[in-house]
Amino acid sequence: MTENMIPDDAIKCLDKGFVRLVDSMGGDDAIVQSARVSYGKGTKKVTQDRGLIRYLMRHRHTTPFEMVEFKFHCKMPIFVARQWVRHRTANINEYSMRYSEARDDFYIPEKKDIHFQSKLNKQGRDIEDVPDELKEKVIQYFEEMSQKSFNIYQELNEAGIARELARAIIPVNIYTEWYWKNDLHNTLHFLHLRMDSHAQYEIRVYADAMAEYVKKIAPFAFEAFMDYVVNGMRFTGVERSIFSKNLPKRILDEIYEDVIYQIVATMHHTKSRDQEELYHLYQKNGGKDTQGDFELKWDSGEVEPGNVRELTEFKEKLESL
Ligand SMILES: Cc1cc2nc3c(=O)[nH]c(=O)nc-3n(C[C@H](O)[C@H](O)[C@H](O)COP(=O)(O)OP(=O)(O)OC[C@H]3O[C@@H](n4cnc5c(N)ncnc54)[C@H](O)[C@@H]3O)c2cc1C
Repeated sequence: MTENMIPDDAIKCLDKGFVRLVDSMGGDDAIVQSARVSYGKGTKKVTQDRGLIRYLMRHRHTTPFEMVEFKFHCKMPIFVARQWVRHRTANINEYSMRYSEARDDFYIPEKKDIHFQSKLNKQGRDIEDVPDELKEKVIQYFEEMSQKSFNIYQELNEAGIARELARAIIPVNIYTEWYWKNDLHNTLHFLHLRMDSHAQYEIRVYADAMAEYVKKIAPFAFEAFMDYVVNGMRFTGVERSIFSKNLPKRILDEIYEDVIYQIVATMHHTKSRDQEELYHLYQKNGGKDTQGDFELKWDSGEVEPGNVRELTEFKEKLESL
């Protein structure tokens, strides 16, 4: 096998692959700048930038996220590229095995990544342990087939057979390389699908590596993506109806009260108010506790401020149940 070259600035993926960020344009600033197109850069505080980015992500105002661009250099097995290329919004330029000779660079899985076919998920792997000798056999077959097909490929090459035909003898665990350019919105869409536990392990490794770069270039956008897209949850109509029927009113009332306390705490956080004003604010937001109960809870110090806009939206959702 040839020497495995991983560039210094790359994140290694699988046994011989990598992802490296070649270039990028913009970051959180560019998202904010385009969203506030009439104000221009630098007119608002950093905390407000974060709030705006979170607002945009939450409400799926996606075009400002398209203002940020990434260009990655990636090396991955062809069967991974085969899945990756389905993400149609990227600009790709790939190593050509018609033009250049194939290289002796094949993906050989590690023992820890060899599993049985999942019994539950037709597209997944099982957690049950594969006996060590079977794992060794798998690795041996991968190595033998890779080496044998490569030897034949070389023989055909030396005999002058066209590379575009000879390459078809090579299996899909051979590594290929490409430049992959995309904007932040579509890169996050890719990450959402391919960092997910339902995605194949071998592509997940690449998505996780790309996420590291995205996090550095646009930290607020990435944080918002994790909160609202990856860790957020959407309910179907059927699920919502189960909630409204099965959640006891007492529980809903408690959550509702908590939200109102948090709204008041947030407003108090931005503009301090005395106890009398606070209670008034609490009632104005729909709070039902007596003044005595209110003061007791408030003074316990357990009320944490949040994002008033998000809390208000959450309150509306609860009310609609
Ligand atoms: C876990 C998993 C399993 C999968 N299994 C299979 C499988 O068994 N078989 C299979 O064939 N594929 C499979 N796929 C691929 C999947 O169906 C999508 O093709 C792939 O994830 C790309 O998604 P996308 O189209 O949203 O992304 P992109 O192509 O990046 O598109 C992004 C968005 O742009 C819009 N868009 C892009 N092009 C068009 C267009 N021409 N028309 C309308 N809207 C467009 C869509 O809104 C789309 O969501 C699987 C993917 C995953 C993550």
